[in-house]
Amino acid sequence: MTVCETCGLPQELCVCESIAKESQKITIRLENKRYNKKYTVIDGIDDKEISLDQICKKLKEALACGGTVKENRIELQGEHKQRAKQILIAAGFAPETIIIK
Ligand SMILES: [Zn+2]
Repeated sequence: MTVCETCGLPQELCVCESIAKESQKITIRLENKRYNKKYTVIDGIDDKEISLDQICKKLKEALACGGTVKENRIELQGEHKQRAKQILIAAGFAPETIIIK
């Protein structure tokens, strides 16, 4: 059985991640990279509280695009600002904590 390090409850009873998801300061913006490729960059999710790999996987599946986790941020190939926000909200993040730049 896995026990949460923060609250000491078994992982299936722990709500730390749900609470954390409501108190992030997330920004979503576009970045141009080499060869003028556009990337949607999601910044500000605390990787100590939330698994960025899991969120990245969810986004990639929903958007059918490539993506990576790099230096505490998620980079998705292509322009997905609005849809990425909707997916994060569906995953439990509070809408008011997500800012699109
Ligand atoms: Zn916990």
